[in-house]
Amino acid sequence: MVASVHGVCACGHELQSFDPQCPSCGKQLSAPNVRMALAQRDRLHSAYHLKRQSTARGLRLEELEACIGSDGRIVVNMRYSTIRELLENPQVTYGNFWQDFVADRIVERNEALVARRMQVDAALFAQHTKRIRSAVLSPDGLGATFYGRFAVTLRQLLIADRTSLLENNPFNVDLSRVNELLRAIWDDRAKLAVVRYGDSVATSDVPIATLIRVIGAERDGQAFMEAHIWDTFTREAFENVVAQVPPGALDPQLIGDLARIEDLCNRAGIAFERVEDVLVRA
Ligand SMILES: [Zn+2]
Repeated sequence: MVASVHGVCACGHELQSFDPQCPSCGKQLSAPNVRMALAQRDRLHSAYHLKRQSTARGLRLEELEACIGSDGRIVVNMRYSTIRELLENPQVTYGNFWQDFVADRIVERNEALVARRMQVDAALFAQHTKRIRSAVLSPDGLGATFYGRFAVTLRQLLIADRTSLLENNPFNVDLSRVNELLRAIWDDRAKLAVVRYGDSVATSDVPIATLIRVIGAERDGQAFMEAHIWDTFTREAFENVVAQVPPGALDPQLIGDLARIEDLCNRAGIAFERVEDVLVRA
């Protein structure tokens, strides 16, 4: 018998959707994005084994797996106003694009971009989109600069069981191919990285974290493994904050902003660090 693609509840009910509750017994199920990744696990494992077999430099792939397994942090990049609001109030929750859009917090209301985003999100998560928060898998902890200079690493313990990973930035592929992107549950993140980065890692001796660094200052050019977190989080989930600043003299506004965030982090017991980064944009 082939198991239902949507899984089976502990009560025995064969699920017909990825909804977060069992319609038969009402039990809370795993997050829909995690179950979607689980449903495609065989596809990921096949691609992983194929990559392992076809790559001559197996040791390099093992190095990659170990790096992602230990340092594959989930990072959310925030702009000043967002991180400040979260740090100032322990009750404030992190909003996603759609909540920000409705609340008029999106500065750049480009119609074509919003339409594309709506299509990409619908292709990935259908009706569950509104409860998903996006992040990136980032071994160096700097994340995707495009989305903001403040890179927040989230605590694994608070998010791992509701996080799934996507092979690529979905804005980097044709809409018709978004659904072909491989997905992974948290425990399979290193396998997904092998499929995604195996070729470039095997043909280079550059340190892994540098090699798979998020590169590019524009949304469409950014290549990264996207992470999706079900539901939201507060500053309690912040493990550390890295502020990326341009080299050279900083303008007084930025100096003030950085001092404010550093002070708020100190008071909340969150490690804060600043690094010079020529890629920074916002
Ligand atoms: Zn049930």
